[in-house]
Amino acid sequence: MTVQTNGALFRRILIANRGEIACRIIETAQAMGVECVAVYSDADATARHVKMANAAIRIGGAAPSESYLRGDVIVRAALDSGAEAIHPGYGFLSENPDFVESVEAAGLTFIGPSAQAIRAMGLKDAAKVVMERAGVPVVPGYHGADQDAARLAAEAEKIGYPVLIKAVAGGGGKGMRRVDAATDFAQALEAARSEAKKAFGNGVVLVEKYVNQPRHIEVQVFGDGHSAIHLFERDCSLQRRHQKVIEEAPAPGMTPQMRAAMGQAAVRAAEAIGYSGAGTVEFIVDSASGLREDAFFFMEMNTRLQVEHPVTEAITGIDLVAWQLQVASGAPLPLRQEDLHISGHAFEARLYAEDVPAGFLPATGRLSHLKFPDNVRADSGVQSGDEISPYYDPMIAKLVVHGETRDIALKKLDKALGETEVAGTVTNLAFLGALARHVGFGAGVFDTGLIARDLDSLTCPPPVQVRHIVWAAMVTSGLDAPAADAGFSLWQPLCHRVRLTHAGDIFAPSVRVNGPDTQIWQVGDHEVVAQRRAGVWRIDGVHAPKAHCQDGQVTVFDDYGVVFGIVDDLAQTAQGTTVDTRIDAPMPGIIKLLAAKPGQKVAKGDRLAVLEAMKMEHALLAARDGEIAEVLATEGAQVLAGAPLITLKEEDAP
Ligand code: ADP
Ligand code: ADP
Ligand code: MG
Repeated sequence: MTVQTNGALFRRILIANRGEIACRIIETAQAMGVECVAVYSDADATARHVKMANAAIRIGGAAPSESYLRGDVIVRAALDSGAEAIHPGYGFLSENPDFVESVEAAGLTFIGPSAQAIRAMGLKDAAKVVMERAGVPVVPGYHGADQDAARLAAEAEKIGYPVLIKAVAGGGGKGMRRVDAATDFAQALEAARSEAKKAFGNGVVLVEKYVNQPRHIEVQVFGDGHSAIHLFERDCSLQRRHQKVIEEAPAPGMTPQMRAAMGQAAVRAAEAIGYSGAGTVEFIVDSASGLREDAFFFMEMNTRLQVEHPVTEAITGIDLVAWQLQVASGAPLPLRQEDLHISGHAFEARLYAEDVPAGFLPATGRLSHLKFPDNVRADSGVQSGDEISPYYDPMIAKLVVHGETRDIALKKLDKALGETEVAGTVTNLAFLGALARHVGFGAGVFDTGLIARDLDSLTCPPPVQVRHIVWAAMVTSGLDAPAADAGFSLWQPLCHRVRLTHAGDIFAPSVRVNGPDTQIWQVGDHEVVAQRRAGVWRIDGVHAPKAHCQDGQVTVFDDYGVVFGIVDDLAQTAQGTTVDTRIDAPMPGIIKLLAAKPGQKVAKGDRLAVLEAMKMEHALLAARDGEIAEVLATEGAQVLAGAPLITLKEEDAP
C-alpha cells in the first residue's frame, strides 16, 4: 500500500476505539508520522492498542457504557492529550451525530462525515427517501410514518410475500424478520418491534420486498464533502443471520456495466448528502438471473470505515485510513475515478471466539497461543496471553489474502486458515475452513442463504483422528521431547498411560516405548506406531503437527485445531451430578429476564431466564419438571460463563 504524507497532516490524533480497528488505524497513522493517543477501559489496560499507541488514557470501566461510549470523557481526553482530531473506528461512537457535534464544538476535527450526513443516513426509512429523490434504486416497499399493524399488513400484501420487516434504526441484523405468508405477519411484526425497541430504543419499522436469491454487494465510496468517487464493490453474501462472515472483492460474476451502474448510484448517494471521508453504500442484488443492471437496490449507507475495508485495500493498493487522515485534514481526494483500478482478488475471513457446534455461542477465554501464518494480512487486536472478555465483540482477527485470480486467492485463504494456530478458546476457524472449501462458494455461485442451507455440513466437527489422540498423548506426557532431553537410555519397553477427553469422549491411550525413536501406541483397538526420523516424529506415517499444551488442555494444530482435555486423575472428586438441578450461564452475558421465583413449580422446557450475549438472546429452559429452590442471579446482572443462575429442588427432596 502506498502511504502518501501530506505537509498539513495532523500532528496527533486520538482513537476512540479498541481492538483490531484501533491497532489498524495506529499502524497507518504512525507510518505517516502522526502520533496516536489510545483510550482504554479497565478491561483493556494491557491491550495491544494501548501498547502500540504513543500515549494512552484510561476512560472508565469495562462496560462500553462506562468507557468507549462516553463521548464527553473521550473529548476531554483528546483535549488533555493535545490531540487535534478523533478517529472513531467503527461501532461505538462512529455513527453518532451528537458525538460529532461535541467533537467539533470542542474545536477538534472528527475524522469522518458531518453530523448532518450521518443523520441523513441514520434511519433506514429516511435514507430510502433521500435515495429515491437522488434517483438511486431502492428496495420496493413501504417506509411511511403510519405504523398501524393493519396498515403495515396491508402494505405487505401489496408488496407481495415474502417480505422483510426491518427496524428503521436497525444494525447488525437486529430487528429484522422475514415473513413468508400473511398469517405470520402480525407475530413477526411484534417480534421485530420489540427487538428493535430493546436494541435501539426505537420500534419503528419498514416493510420491504424480500429479494430473491439475495446477494449483498456494497460499494466503497470516498468523498471530500462535495464530490465523491468509488473504490469498486465488495461482495458480503456469505452471511449468518444477516451478519457477514467472509467478504471478498471484486464480486464474482460482476459485469463492467453493472459495476459502472452500481458505482454511479453509490457516488450519487454520497454526493446527495455532501459526504466526506470513507463510507459504504450497501445494495441488495436479486441474483436469480445473474447480475443485472436493473436488479440492485439501495439498502442502507454505513457512514464509517467498515470491518471489511481491507479487501478493497488489497485490490486497489490504497490505504483507506491514510485517505481518511488526508481528507479530514483538508486535503483533496488523493486520486480521480479514472486513476483507480482493480488488481486481482481478495478475501477476508472473520475469526471469532465462538462455539460453532453449540449454535455460534460467543466464547471467552485466555488465548494461551495465537499465531498467524506469514505472508497473510492478519488484523488483530489481541496477542498470545490476552483475554477475550465478555464485554466486547469476540472477534480475534481478520485474515486477509490477495491473489491474481479468485481461485488463487481462495486457495490462499484456505491455506491461511489451515495454518492459523489458536489455543485457549474455541473459535469458528473450522467453520471458516469449511466455507473456504465449499464447492458452490468456490464456483462463485452463492447467495445470502448459503450458510443456512448447508449449516449441518458446514458445522459438523470432523471425527477425531487416532493419530491426533496419540500425538496429544505424546505431548502431554513429554514423550515427544528430543531424545537427549528425554533421557531415554532405557532399552526395555517403558509403559505409560494418559487420559484425554475430546467432545465428551474419554481416551486412555497406552504406550510401549521401544528406545528413543519408536513408540507403539494402543488407542482402543487401534495400534499406532510413532517413529522419529531425522528428529521429526511421524505417527502412522504422517508428519506430526505442532501442538500447544497449557492450562490442562492440549491443542493439536491440524484440522483447524483439535483440543483435548488432560484428565488429572487426582482432581477427580465426587461432585455428584447437578446437571438437571442447576441452570448455569452457558456463556458470559447479561441477564435480560428472570422468570423464576423460589417455590414456583415449573415444567420441563419452561423458559426460566433470558441471557443476552454479544449478538443474540438465549432462552434458558428448565431441564425437568420440578420446583425452583433458589434464584441466584438478578436481572440486569453481567454473569460469567458457568455462573449458577437457578437451582431446582432435588428430585427426592421433600
Ligand atoms: P460491517 O458492516 O462494517 O461489516 P458489521 O455489520 O459486521 O460491520 O458490524 C456492524 C457493527 O457491529 C459495527 O458497526 C459495530 O457497531 C459492531 N462491531 C463489530 N465488531 C466490533 C468491534 N470489534 N468493536 C466494536 N464494535 C463492533
Ligand atoms: P443492518 O443494518 O442490520 O446491516 P441491512 O439493511 O444492511 O441491515 O440488512 C442486513 C442483511 O439483511 C443484508 O446484508 C441482507 O443479507 C439481508 N437483507 C436486507 N434487506 C433484504 C431484502 N430486501 N431482501 C433480502 N435480504 C435482505
Ligand atoms: Mg447493513
